[in-house]
Amino acid sequence: MAADLSKIAKERKIKYFLISYVDLFGQLRAKLAPAEAIAGMQRDGAGFAGFATWLDMTPAHPDLFARPDPDSLIQLPWKPEVGWLASDLWMDGKEVHDSPRAQLKHQIAKAAAKGWRMKTGVECEYFLITPDGRSVADSLDSQEKPCYDQMALMRRYDVITEICNSMLALGWKPYQNDHEDANGQFEMNWEYDDALLTADRHVFFKYMVRQIAEKHGMRATFMPKPFLNLTGNGCHAHVSVWDKSGKTNLFHDPKGELGLSKLAYSFLGGVIHSADALCSFFNPTVNSYKRINAPRTLSGATWAPNTITYGGNNRTHMVRIPDAGRFELRLMDGAANPYLLQAGVLAAGLDGVDNKRDPGPRLDINMYTEGHKVKGAKKLPLNLLDALRLTEKSKVLREAMGDSFIDAYTRMKHEEWSRYCRHLTQWEMDNTLDC
Ligand code: ADP
Ligand code: MG
Ligand code: MG
Ligand code: MG
Ligand code: MG
Repeated sequence: MAADLSKIAKERKIKYFLISYVDLFGQLRAKLAPAEAIAGMQRDGAGFAGFATWLDMTPAHPDLFARPDPDSLIQLPWKPEVGWLASDLWMDGKEVHDSPRAQLKHQIAKAAAKGWRMKTGVECEYFLITPDGRSVADSLDSQEKPCYDQMALMRRYDVITEICNSMLALGWKPYQNDHEDANGQFEMNWEYDDALLTADRHVFFKYMVRQIAEKHGMRATFMPKPFLNLTGNGCHAHVSVWDKSGKTNLFHDPKGELGLSKLAYSFLGGVIHSADALCSFFNPTVNSYKRINAPRTLSGATWAPNTITYGGNNRTHMVRIPDAGRFELRLMDGAANPYLLQAGVLAAGLDGVDNKRDPGPRLDINMYTEGHKVKGAKKLPLNLLDALRLTEKSKVLREAMGDSFIDAYTRMKHEEWSRYCRHLTQWEMDNTLDC
């Protein structure tokens, strides 16, 4: 029996619920329902017009219902009378298969059938900028190498600690906050957990950071590359697979190379095999391709990959093995849909295990300076169009996520690419007017 939300509302003095869902483009949508009405909404869901959001639907489709998952409940730490709920999407009495949270749940169910649980931690970098989006909010934050700058960090003490205090109160076990490699850029880390829980928290984290930044007169952005000369917003994911009880890390093998098990290397082999096809999920915007494949930034390095390789504790590769029992996938950016990020990793990893995929040799080189010497490693796509074509062609992703999902997602993203191409840029004017 699911927890009774109207009873919980009385016990915890919740007056309103935010019944939320994330569409295919990662946008957070919600209805605000008074606690008095939550019983009916918990049973039937809150109604939406799917076409009005980024889902593969037309205006003629029937009502879309968001059914809240009571396990996801988070009382807003800055306004506890509001309870936030992640929801699952339903239509005509059936779950909407081509929706992000459903996709992740399918992959989790496949792993569970093998007795496995994927656990992940995400590192969501963001910038604090002026409300007009044009510049970094802190005009004094202008060093060439601003990473870990204590002064710039402490000028944002009020915002950072309000967010961190919220995570502490919610029991997420945050453990560090820092100024990142770009002016105005920050990262806050909390402890890894089961993939669905991490995905729901990832969604909430982005909402919380934006909301608290606005309260302090600023704007927060997770945009992959808001400033061309500065390091972009990554969203690295650390990954491990555990047994059913969640107590034994099956990626950990003290005798394995760098402390990783055979299972871990096959899973990694799957991620390496499908990495380019996954870019349209991990790097889903036109802007994403200005972060990966980027030229050197002001700080001296982009910290983002351009080639599909892995290494040991070496940040110049797409995959880093920082420690025994896990690997870090550094490909994703701040625009990645939190559910599709996890679903993509798990789908590719399970394929790797099923087909015993070999990740190839580990490279212990500096990819930024010696990358040109590497023979045979695949390059990442250079733009969203190439990425979409790779996703469409991927037998592995079609098999794992379903043709209807791949077709729905890529069709909508192709339309986005077309809207972008119809846009006349200043670059064209500067370079073509006198042709
Ligand atoms: P770095 O900046 O060195 O890449 P961070 O400390 O910023 O690393 O983030 C590391 C993330 O990895 C955290 O969310 C942490 O909880 C998570 N993590 C640690 N161990 C594991 C593991 N075994 N499986 C999955 N995630 C892990
Ligand atoms: Mg209406
Ligand atoms: Mg980090
Ligand atoms: Mg970082
Ligand atoms: Mg990292």
